[in-house]
Amino acid sequence: MFSLPVRRIITFIGTFVTMAIAIGGPLGFGVITYLNEAEALSRQADLNAAYVSKHAYQSGPMWSFETARLQELVEANKVRSTTNQHRIMTTEGKVVLDDAPALAYPVMVRSAPIIVHGKVVGTVEVFTSMARAVTATCLVAILSIALGFAAYYPVKVLPIKLLDETVDELEAKADAALNNMAQGLCMWDAQERLVICNSRYHELYGFSPDVVRPRASLRDVIEHSCALGNHPGETVNDVLAERRAHFSGCAGGAVFWQLKGDRTIAITDSRTDSGGWVSTYQDITDRRKSEEKIAHMAHHDTLTGLPNRVLFREQLDEAVRLAEKGDKFAVLCLDLDHFKAVNDTLGHPLGDALLQAVSSRLQTCARETDTVARLGGDEFAVIVTIQEPHDAIPFSARLIEVISAPYELDGHQVVVGTSVGIAIAPNDACEPDQLLKAADMALYRAKVDGRGIFRFFEPEMDTMMQVRRALEIDLRKAVVSSEFEVYYQPLVNLQNNSVSGFEALVRWNHPTRGLVPPAEFIPLAEEIGLINKIGGWVLKQACIDAATWPREVKVAVNLSPVQFKNRALVLDVISALGESGLSAKRLELEITETIMLQDTEGTLTTLHQLRELGVSISMDDFGTGYSSLSYLRKFPFDKIKIDQSFIRDLDNSLAIVRAVTGLSVGLGMSTTAEGVETQAQLDQLRKEGCTEVQGYFFSRPQPASEVAGMLISVQDKSRAA
Ligand code: C2E
Ligand code: MG
Ligand code: MG
Repeated sequence: MFSLPVRRIITFIGTFVTMAIAIGGPLGFGVITYLNEAEALSRQADLNAAYVSKHAYQSGPMWSFETARLQELVEANKVRSTTNQHRIMTTEGKVVLDDAPALAYPVMVRSAPIIVHGKVVGTVEVFTSMARAVTATCLVAILSIALGFAAYYPVKVLPIKLLDETVDELEAKADAALNNMAQGLCMWDAQERLVICNSRYHELYGFSPDVVRPRASLRDVIEHSCALGNHPGETVNDVLAERRAHFSGCAGGAVFWQLKGDRTIAITDSRTDSGGWVSTYQDITDRRKSEEKIAHMAHHDTLTGLPNRVLFREQLDEAVRLAEKGDKFAVLCLDLDHFKAVNDTLGHPLGDALLQAVSSRLQTCARETDTVARLGGDEFAVIVTIQEPHDAIPFSARLIEVISAPYELDGHQVVVGTSVGIAIAPNDACEPDQLLKAADMALYRAKVDGRGIFRFFEPEMDTMMQVRRALEIDLRKAVVSSEFEVYYQPLVNLQNNSVSGFEALVRWNHPTRGLVPPAEFIPLAEEIGLINKIGGWVLKQACIDAATWPREVKVAVNLSPVQFKNRALVLDVISALGESGLSAKRLELEITETIMLQDTEGTLTTLHQLRELGVSISMDDFGTGYSSLSYLRKFPFDKIKIDQSFIRDLDNSLAIVRAVTGLSVGLGMSTTAEGVETQAQLDQLRKEGCTEVQGYFFSRPQPASEVAGMLISVQDKSRAA
């Protein structure tokens, strides 16, 4: 179509050249021949007239009778070789000479006057036949027309043919390019008529090429599109208005979304110079879906599908904004109790399943308007709108109850508790960070206070946390400047009433606070990772001290569960024994039940390795933790130390103490009763068959320097008792 003007020009030039050759040739030839003939004939007539005039002058009035002479004269003055006819007439009209028969048609005649004494006495006419000239012109015409037709091919037919071929080729290429585009494309003219479109455009909307084709109007196309159900809920006029609005407003590149069923099509309209526009259509459904997925992933936890920390933070900001208008809300921080133990014992896939189960239970407790999020690991957080702070109580209690109910996971019954910390906005804080911090402090308190409970934030917690932070700083310093000391408490054998050993109990000689008991700093040391250093030091010191004691006296050293995570524990024990020269038989290591909850395989391997060194292993504080008898089956402990809480309340715990001593005998273990303070307790325990006792009744823990004294005094006391 763009070849139209070129085509016209070529046709015009071709036709012009052909005509010029066909007509111009013979016409020119004819005119020139005619003019030549006419001029020659005129000259002939003039010349003849001159001669005849001269002759008439000489002959006088008789000239007109001398026909032969006149004939001679006109013959003698022949200018042209062709046969001419001469006719001489007097003014009276008498033909004096007419020398030839009529010539072949057409005939040209030229005449000239015969003048004698200035007076015209007659005329000379010269005739010639133009038949030959006409024949020659006809021949030239035939030749020219042939030449013209011959020129028509190279000048018009060939260029047009080449042009058509080129155009076809270009159109084929353009078609291929258009129809292979991933995008739909169409071009509209200023009258809203379709100029061109590609097959992708048809495909995208399911259009029929018979309807949506060049020259179709925009309205026709939209009607067709609506009939195909591409614009649910919209009328033809709606869609038309929408499209027009976009065309008129489009500044090139603006994108208009069109939803077609569940697909999304991005339409880009750009104006053309001729007042129409070009639209491209791209199916961006997949891209949109993956963008949505990415956006979802950025705001949600992949494992549980709950909002993650980022989205939680956004929701918290929003809640804080609403709180400025008077709404109250609570932020709850939750932490699963001993989740790590479950994860380590049952494996990560089950741990993951547990987290998923917990999150769906959490969601069942929350209302639509509440936000339940997983902040990471086993940490969850909830934002709940409330009327009054105490509204958070039943909610938290319910969370704890619901989460603590047993889970059935892959054939395992799993129980996990949760501790909850609560902060109320705006009472406790108005800032998102402050609120989270407050809820976190309350959670910390809930865990310290025994787990499985909830605690509201209290301003003192802030102070407590500051104290804790100060303690942390001091503890780090204490490790560097060796502010620790080991105290020893005797263990008395009830069979021979002698001191069988001493338990090493660490003390911190704080420069300003004085002697700090282990309960105040061991948990912190465990939390901040200092326990390995402190525990290692105690182990070494205890071995060094014990090496100086009588050979039959053992030393018992407490090991934190955290120390078991350190693969170098066995090496530490070996080097402590090696450096002190203490026999492995004289070293007892005390571990608590919580150790058995963590990574049992690794723990058991370590325990066996320690045992192979020759050291004995005691189960400390038995009865306070999970008291699972399966632990006793998993590892053959040498000793069970019954927790002092049972001894303190011996009357009520007698059955338990009896069961444990009985069990120990059966399993070939010895039993130590901790926290023996009275003679009555001692008597009772002796009766129950306890092998060993430890407690203030014999001695409080004392510095190493007191060991020798204790050996004597305790022995005496034991025998007396
Ligand atoms: P534990 O291993 O059960 O140690 C016995 C605790 O009971 C000691 O408290 C001891 O002073 C106390 N005790 C002994 N007899 C009596 C009694 O008749 N009445 C009362 N009321 N208490 C008695 P201590 O020294 O404060 O240690 C507390 C806990 O700190 C220990 O409990 C142990 O778990 C931990 N601990 C102490 N030293 C170390 C250590 O070097 N490393 C580790 N990891 N933990 C240690
Ligand atoms: Mg102990
Ligand atoms: Mg104990």
